[in-house]
Amino acid sequence: MNCPDCYSILSTKAVKYPVDAIVVHKCNVCDGIWIAGTSLKRLLTSEPSAPSYEKIVEIINQKNHLSGTKNCPSCENKKLHVLKIRGVELDYCESCNGMYFDKGELEGVIPKLKSEGFKYDDAGMGTYWVCEVITWVLVGIFSG
Ligand SMILES: [Zn+2]
Ligand SMILES: [Zn+2]
Repeated sequence: MNCPDCYSILSTKAVKYPVDAIVVHKCNVCDGIWIAGTSLKRLLTSEPSAPSYEKIVEIINQKNHLSGTKNCPSCENKKLHVLKIRGVELDYCESCNGMYFDKGELEGVIPKLKSEGFKYDDAGMGTYWVCEVITWVLVGIFSG
C-alpha cells in the first residue's frame, strides 16, 4: 500500500482502541495517515462524543467534491476526492470511505501536534495516539 502523497510504502499498524482492533497506515516519509472506512467506522463507534460515521458520510455527500490527483491506497484506480469542510481539506475515497490526512491538515486542526511531533512508534502506544488524533480531528471538523 502506497502513500497517496509521496508514493512511499505505508507502514501498517493495528491497535486496540479501546477494545476493537483499529488499523491505521502511516507514511514514515511525509507523516501522512491513511485510515480505511471500516477502521474509521470502528474508531468513531468507540468514542461516544464523536460524530457518528453515518453522520460524517451524510455531511460528506452534501459537499462539493473535487476530483483530486491522489490515488486511493486501498482501491485500484480510484482517485481521492477533495472536500473542504470548515477550512480543512479532506482527502476522501467515495468507494471505500477511507480518509487520508496529511501532516499539515492534522496540525491545522490540532496545532499542538506541531510542537509535540508525531509520537508514532512500534510500541503500540504511538498507534493509539494516532487514533486519538484522528478522532479529535473528526470531532473538530464534523461536530456541531
Ligand atoms: Zn508519504
Ligand atoms: Zn478507496
